[in-house]
Amino acid sequence: MKRFLCGAILFGAVFSIGSCAKGQTPPLSGKESEDSTEGAWQYADTAMGTVVQETVYAEKDIANCFYESSMELLGKLEKEDLSWRLDTSQVYRINASAGEKEGCQISGEMASVLESCLELYERSQGAFDVTLGSLTRLWDIDKWAAWDDTGGFSCPSREAVEQALSLCGSERLRIQRGDGPGSGSSDAKVFLPEGMRLDLGAVGKGVAQSRLRDLLEEETGITGAVISLGGSILTYGVKTDGSPWKVGILDPGDTSSNIGILTLEGGWCVSTSGDYERYVEADGVRYHHILDPATGYPAQSGVRGVTVLVKEGILGDGLSTACFILGPEKGMTLASEYGAESLFVMANGEIILSPGMESYFQEK
Ligand code: AMP
Ligand code: MG
Repeated sequence: MKRFLCGAILFGAVFSIGSCAKGQTPPLSGKESEDSTEGAWQYADTAMGTVVQETVYAEKDIANCFYESSMELLGKLEKEDLSWRLDTSQVYRINASAGEKEGCQISGEMASVLESCLELYERSQGAFDVTLGSLTRLWDIDKWAAWDDTGGFSCPSREAVEQALSLCGSERLRIQRGDGPGSGSSDAKVFLPEGMRLDLGAVGKGVAQSRLRDLLEEETGITGAVISLGGSILTYGVKTDGSPWKVGILDPGDTSSNIGILTLEGGWCVSTSGDYERYVEADGVRYHHILDPATGYPAQSGVRGVTVLVKEGILGDGLSTACFILGPEKGMTLASEYGAESLFVMANGEIILSPGMESYFQEK
């Protein structure tokens, strides 16, 4: 655990959104300081394969306690729910059950996550698809994330991509809620056809944001907090000096700087998807990690990064991935259907904002 003590720390520090690019050291603290005040505590660690940074405005003991609980929550979420590698998780069990007639028992919470994913699949016309597991495994995306040497990668053959694509498609994923009275039954079953696999990589951080916000709400002694989970940032409550939260949006062309700043009150989930977050190079070609289910290859929508601003984490995370694939026109329409604001950074450097985003974003 790495903990940064901060009796008087960077208030108004600009948190940069967007995971650091491969090969770079993960950022472990706010990038700029605008002013400073006492009463906030900063922490940095890793969880769910990414860097977690927290700034908590509370008494020291309460902040420390929240930090410990939040890291425990993230560890549990990975271990018990989302990991496709750990045999203790629901996703692992679902994947292992593929093809079984009796399906796989899952929690009501997991069923809700999958239901949101299915809705986004439909509304994005298949661009967002959590059943891409066979394809993401073929591309070996998980290995690219480790900031490790990815030597040895070679682009999969078209036949292999076609074969993997034949094992994808959320329309084939079925969720059955328990028979208990009312719609809030506590458990459910999921049925995944043989050979298919889930990959919840596009929504995991969003799910974590929602759970962290619930945890913050349980702790009455916390007046404000900002939590960064790789490409996703959660703002909560207020700072002691009443100044707004500042979130920097990384420049996809130079991830050591920001293209601009979002100025936000508490209660927002900010999520970014970008082609610079995970990628691999082979034979002079650069492949990124957001795959277009229509082709099986990295999406080529002319977008380099998308940031989505919304109140519910899972929506923001899912939407930023979907918007990356759909491009600005369709993506912005989709985001607005969910009441979300969006910002697209295009390959030619153009920045395209939804109308509502204009009041939050200030270009550098
Ligand atoms: P994000 O960084 O939130 O945009 O999520 C990207 C991750 O989601 C990738 O690393 C894959 O694990 C997975 N993924 C890639 N393409 C898609 C897609 N079209 N729909 C859903 N998940 C995807
Ligand atoms: Mg996402």
